[in-house]
This record gives sequence, structure tokens and C-alpha cells, in this order.
Amino acid sequence: MSERKIALVTGANKGIGYEIAVGLGALGWSVGVGARDDRRREAAVEQLRAVGIDAFGIPLDVTDDASVTAAARLIEEQTGRLDVLVNNAGITGGMPQEPTRVDPATIRTVVETNVIGVIRVTNAMMPMLRRSASPRIVNMSSNVGSLTRQSGTAAELTTGPVTVAYAPSKTFLNAVTLQYARELSGTNILINMGCPGYVATDLNGFRGVRTPEQGAAVAIKLATLPDDGPTGTFFEDAGVVSW
Ligand code: NDP
Repeated sequence: MSERKIALVTGANKGIGYEIAVGLGALGWSVGVGARDDRRREAAVEQLRAVGIDAFGIPLDVTDDASVTAAARLIEEQTGRLDVLVNNAGITGGMPQEPTRVDPATIRTVVETNVIGVIRVTNAMMPMLRRSASPRIVNMSSNVGSLTRQSGTAAELTTGPVTVAYAPSKTFLNAVTLQYARELSGTNILINMGCPGYVATDLNGFRGVRTPEQGAAVAIKLATLPDDGPTGTFFEDAGVVSW
């Protein structure tokens, strides 16, 4: 019998991350709920356990070196291994974000969370992932980070708000993910990006049109890719996103 898989989902206390934890837990996996706020994390773990999911809490602020190092140590102590990392935690930095008016501090904050945070967490977890039989890394991105889609027709250009911090942070994340895929080619680690679609969560004031469960589906698919699956690729439910 194969061992139960262990996953860590960052920002799993609410929204899409919480539903990713539900989805992976429903597969019989043990799921680490990475969250920075003690009360919100404990509430999520309790709620997941109430529906039969083997969830455990991992204090984690992706912008804080010490927090991320401690999180890796805790997982190592509690489980001794990690098979799947879902880098889901993300922020928009608030609106509006017009390039001509933005406070550069907003860009720094968003990149620190959405890009550097992913690098920080991934690298801290890498020793455990390297020991897994089928490691998978999923980076939650957004198709608003697709340069191809934004530079298309005038109709596409006028869709959604102008965001000089959020959208480029996802473009940056996609570019970073590709470099990981290149470095890790030839290993058994598959690293991909997923766009959940426009999902009703705190991130957009619940204006999204999809449910968090629908948004989680792409991450669950990428977390469970077969050994000969793709790497360095950007997916949404409908297939590959050209970015
Ligand atoms: P939510 O705002 O509902 O959840 C974001 C999660 O990230 C929360 O758990 C939040 O924790 C956590 N988080 C934020 N900053 C940090 C940090 N420094 N350390 C640890 N955790 C942190 O957003 P969504 O569920 O909508 O978004 C999840 C991912 O999906 C994001 O990466 C987002 O960019 C992406 N996405 C979402 C879309 C949508 O339409 N909703 C569309 C495309 C992509 P806390 O509760 O403590 O704030």
C-alpha cells in the first residue's frame, strides 16, 4: 500500500486555498493548512477535521523568513516529508492601481507576497520535496498576468481593472515558475501554474462569478499530475493558458 500523501497549501484558511485543502483532503491526503493568523488557521483546521479531513495547522507568513523556516521545520518534525506544495497565498494590494498614480510601496508589498513569498516557501520546502516519490508544486497564478491576453484586441485590453502591481506580479510569478521548471527538468518534480478563473472571494470583494470549489479544481488537477505530466505550463480549466 502506498503511503498517504502530505500536502501544504499556503493561505488555506479561506477562499480558494481552503477549498484546495478540502479537495486534496478528500483524496485521503494529509493537508497542512498554512496560514499566518492563529485564530483563522485553527478555525479552518477544525472545520476541515469536522468533514473528515486529516488537516494540520502550519503557522506561515510567506513574507517572513523566520516564519517560513519554522514552517518547514514543523512539517519535517510532524510528518518527516512533503509531497505537494500549493503556493496559493496571494494579495492584490488594493485598488485602484493605475501606473501613473501608484505608490511604489504597493508594488513592493505585492511582489513580496506573490513572487518572493512563493520563492521563499518553495526553497524552504525543497529538501523535503526532493525526497518525495512524486513531488508536485502548484503556483496559483492568474490569467490577468498573461501578456498575450492583455495585449490582444481592444476588447481584451479594456477587460478588468488596470493593476500595475497585481497583474505584473502574476506575470513575474509565471516567469519565475518557468525558471524553476528549467532547473528541475530531469528531476521528478513537476511545477506548474494554475488560474482559478474569476472566483468570489475576499480578494475581489466577492465579485467573482465562480465558486471557490470551482477555482480549486485546477490546483487539484496539477497537484495530482501523473509522473509523465507537464512542467512549466500554465493551466486553467479549459486547458493551457498562453501567457
Ligand atoms: P483570498 O483573499 O480569499 O485568500 C488569500 C489567502 O492568502 C488568505 O488565506 C490570506 O490569509 C493568504 N495570505 C495573504 N498574504 C499572506 C501572507 N503574507 N502569508 C500567508 N498567507 C497569506 O483570495 P483567493 O482565495 O481568491 O486567492 C487565492 C489565490 O488565487 C491567490 O494567489 C490569487 O491571486 C489567486 N487568484 C484568485 C482569483 C480570484 O478571482 N479570486 C483569480 C485569479 C487568481 P489571511 O486570511 O491571513 O489574509
